[in-house]
Amino acid sequence: MLECVPEGKTEHTTGKINPAKTCQPIGAMYASLGIHGCLPHSHGSQGCCAYHRMHLTRHFRDQVLAASSSFTEGASVFGGASNLKTSIKNIFKIYNPDIIAVHTTCLSETIGDDIPNIIKQSEIPEGKIVIHTNTPSYVGSHITGFSNMCKSMVAYLAEAQGETKKEQVNVIPGFVNPGDMREIRRIVTALGVKLVMFPDTSGVLDAPLTSKYQMYPEGGTTIAEIRDSGNSEVTLALGAFASNAAADLLQEKCGVTGIPLKLPIGLKATDDFIMAVKDWFGADIPKEIAIERGQVIDTLIDTHFHYQGKTVAIFGDPDHVIAMTEFVITMGMVPKYVLTGTPGKEFEATVTKMLDEAGITGSRVKAEGDLFELHEWIREEKVDLMIGTTYGKYIARTEDIPLVRFGFPILDRAVHPLMPVVGYRGCLRLIEQISNAFLERRDRDALDEDFELVL
Ligand code: SF4
Repeated sequence: MLECVPEGKTEHTTGKINPAKTCQPIGAMYASLGIHGCLPHSHGSQGCCAYHRMHLTRHFRDQVLAASSSFTEGASVFGGASNLKTSIKNIFKIYNPDIIAVHTTCLSETIGDDIPNIIKQSEIPEGKIVIHTNTPSYVGSHITGFSNMCKSMVAYLAEAQGETKKEQVNVIPGFVNPGDMREIRRIVTALGVKLVMFPDTSGVLDAPLTSKYQMYPEGGTTIAEIRDSGNSEVTLALGAFASNAAADLLQEKCGVTGIPLKLPIGLKATDDFIMAVKDWFGADIPKEIAIERGQVIDTLIDTHFHYQGKTVAIFGDPDHVIAMTEFVITMGMVPKYVLTGTPGKEFEATVTKMLDEAGITGSRVKAEGDLFELHEWIREEKVDLMIGTTYGKYIARTEDIPLVRFGFPILDRAVHPLMPVVGYRGCLRLIEQISNAFLERRDRDALDEDFELVL
């Protein structure tokens, strides 16, 4: 497999081969699902919408509902205004959501449909809401789409009641799994601080199976909560690429102080997240959180000889990759190749700074890269481990390198959307996966006389 990847360096300056990203609307659709009672709406062809729903369904292993403007040849030539107005009318009548979140596709962006104007001209029942964001897929990635929809939630919904702020924190959690969002909520709640987290797909994409069908599950951030985010004292934006834009707009629009942080993946990033809440609100660190941190330190000591000094290739979404790079450095590993498909110069600057501070030289770091390039690097000099999405499995198999699945999408493993990788519990899970990947490899490769019961 992948034998056609040539040995040595090949320049490819146009297009991507095996992209390390997907298109903007997928992120916007995912963010919309984190609003309670929301039906995401794709303004474009049915094909785009079907692909986006399928991709999310395959990762989350749960149903993903979304409507489409169902463009045909006529809309492609004359614009999609009439389709969108009809869609909005039909959706409220048939599916009765509280809110419709419209995102665009390549086709409607190329036509240049004026979505805010079309929404103004649409029939919207009393008390119902339609918001929108622009998500042309020839710009950015699914992370840009997620960021754009979060920004639109603030633009359309957040309100400040006055100068006085409430003692509550907003958390914009980034493009993470519902299990991660649930864990972030648990940590902030354990610190005794009231929180508004948006979007929040816990209870939507990890909802329990009941005997009753619910079109809009109980989870998700309510419209009232997102409105109230304008009255909070502070916003913690977790992950610069997915969350900073919404936090910046909240600061500008409602005067809520924004604090940019990494995704709380790994020991230091989790410490920073918890200390930000502690420092701002004067919260006490509860015993249960202190115990969890102590367990991480203990486990790192117990397992360090499995991974100490090993080289690793990390690829995927920029916020995930940045946080994971920091964590593997903490673990004593060497991030040899660090790559994201999402554009953005700050990715390379942030990762390079981390490597420099750790005294690691000879690594390659790239934003807007692809997996073909990553494979070429690995062909030049192999690594001990790969950490990234399912798309890396072809390289892993060809080059016989263990792959720890991490990030979005993971299409060939189960249960992961419910299991957090954030916080100290997430640290333990990552250490377990990384350590065991090396132990599995050692067992597989061991000669009979070296095959040990205890490792
Ligand atoms: S046409 Fe654009 S929006 Fe639709 S699936 Fe392709 S890249 Fe995504």
